[in-house]
Amino acid sequence: MAVCYPAREKLAWEAKIIYNAILEVGMISVEEALEKVLSYVEVLEPEEKPILDCLGQVLTTNIYSMIDIPPLDNSAMDGYAVRAEDTYGASKSSPTILAVIAEVAAGSMPAEELKPGTAVRIMTGAPLPKGADAVVQFEDTDEIDRKLSRGNLWQIGILCQVEKGLNVRYKGEDMAKGELVLKKGKVLRPSEIGVLASLGYSTALVIRRPVVSVLATGDELIDVEQPLPQGKIHDSNSYTIAAEILRYGGIPKILGIGRDSIQSLTEKINEGLDGDMFITSGGVSLGDYDVVKDVLAKRGEIAFWTVCMKPGKPLAFGVISKTKNGKEKKVPHLGLPGNPVSSMVTFEQFARPAILKMMGKNNLAKPTIQAIIEDDVKNTDGRRVFVRVIVTKRGDQYYARLTGPQGSGILTSMAKANGLAIIPEDRKGVATGDIVQVQMLDWSEEM
Ligand code: AMP
Ligand code: MG
Repeated sequence: MAVCYPAREKLAWEAKIIYNAILEVGMISVEEALEKVLSYVEVLEPEEKPILDCLGQVLTTNIYSMIDIPPLDNSAMDGYAVRAEDTYGASKSSPTILAVIAEVAAGSMPAEELKPGTAVRIMTGAPLPKGADAVVQFEDTDEIDRKLSRGNLWQIGILCQVEKGLNVRYKGEDMAKGELVLKKGKVLRPSEIGVLASLGYSTALVIRRPVVSVLATGDELIDVEQPLPQGKIHDSNSYTIAAEILRYGGIPKILGIGRDSIQSLTEKINEGLDGDMFITSGGVSLGDYDVVKDVLAKRGEIAFWTVCMKPGKPLAFGVISKTKNGKEKKVPHLGLPGNPVSSMVTFEQFARPAILKMMGKNNLAKPTIQAIIEDDVKNTDGRRVFVRVIVTKRGDQYYARLTGPQGSGILTSMAKANGLAIIPEDRKGVATGDIVQVQMLDWSEEM
């Protein structure tokens, strides 16, 4: 007997055929999944921005110094510029007395040349007068005694012998004219931003930050600004995901909540297509109302559905096609599971490296340490298990203990954790005292 489907159901039904065909491929490893995700993600183009806005971004040009820094030999201390040989034999009991011929502050040029037997009072950063080759700090002179006794300040007693070059910063010792100081590909940290400023750059060319569209899906979700009716929950995933995107250098574009209907999701997906990447949460498991996969099966290509990990087995990845000015472009889409912990753990494994790659970064791996686990953890279904742990250091050894119950809906298990201990897929579990690898989420001293 022929069955009639209303238009919307028919679309879902057709999409499910594609989905089922893909399911037959079976489960893939975390590494395979990551490789696939990264193969769809490209390094973005450069942009020129004020240096302070470039923090954490990758430089796209070599930076050569056009000047010497420091520009002149100058003093590293407040004290007296001297000729080192004038101080030979000086000591507390037998100071060498020099005539003070001038004073020079940072930012001004010394007018006087130092002749034998003379000194110039000098401040940190002030250019060294001609003839001077060392600076004696105030503490090694009798200046304070002279001031206290209202003595003659046009003379100074040097209380120790100094070597040539003491407390002198030489012209070009930091950056020499013509030197390559920052290489293309360097991630700009505060120190590199300071180097650019020293050289007089107000802007830099860096790989731009990716715009990542974030969509939560589910009929049970309510935005944080709305009161909570019975049976509903606040949408937390949009916020954790957006915060992660910000943390790793992307620009989140929160689209809000898509309902579990093909029409609602299609509309929301269209809103987010101007971004460089699309992240959805929920709607990718086998539940009857999980329609993200169905919409995507229609709208784009799906790369895979299941990854051999826990939490996070139901995961979608694909590309959504869009046409702009007659050109077809493909936006990578990562469909994270809805459970708050699963979405965070899968974000760390797949979305973070994708964002870093788009930003032109090379080091995509999360820092990992070895720790002694302080709880027994079972691995019942042969997947790679990411366990939320609190890592502490005692002596030279790291220890990892569970944050408590590990359900994928227990978001506070992530809030308490600073690491994810990894139980490999080929182990039945780990026992207290075993060594485990732990991906560090934070190195916070506040844990
Ligand atoms: P799903 O993957 O859509 O089947 O969602 C699994 C579970 O995750 C749901 O039952 C919700 O409890 C939870 N969940 C889904 N989306 C969100 C969200 N945006 N914020 C908080 N919890 C969510
Ligand atoms: Mg759902």
